[in-house]
Amino acid sequence: MIDKNRWYWCTTCKEPCITFFCCKNSSCNGGGCDKCKEESDEVDRMFENNEVPRKEDIPHTKEQLRNFHRNELKKIGYSDEEIDERFKKADELDRILRGES
Ligand SMILES: [Zn+2]
Ligand SMILES: [Zn+2]
Repeated sequence: MIDKNRWYWCTTCKEPCITFFCCKNSSCNGGGCDKCKEESDEVDRMFENNEVPRKEDIPHTKEQLRNFHRNELKKIGYSDEEIDERFKKADELDRILRGES
């Protein structure tokens, strides 16, 4: 089961979504990579079984979630610059996948 604190409401897709730690891809947008395949399968399974949190139960905005990720990444030794770089890449990827490149 995926930690309920990781879900945020995607305002683009209008659905609950998580960001994978390894690649920073969003479950609603491009899915995971090879490393987080297990987790991304779990997301699919939760959607199929209606186990994803409801909108009202998701307190996290994307901004709050990024702060959460930033803290987690810092714990494993990433610098602010590296984290910013990753977020920038994730944003670029988001735009490309939405066709806004
Ligand atoms: Zn989305
Ligand atoms: Zn990944």
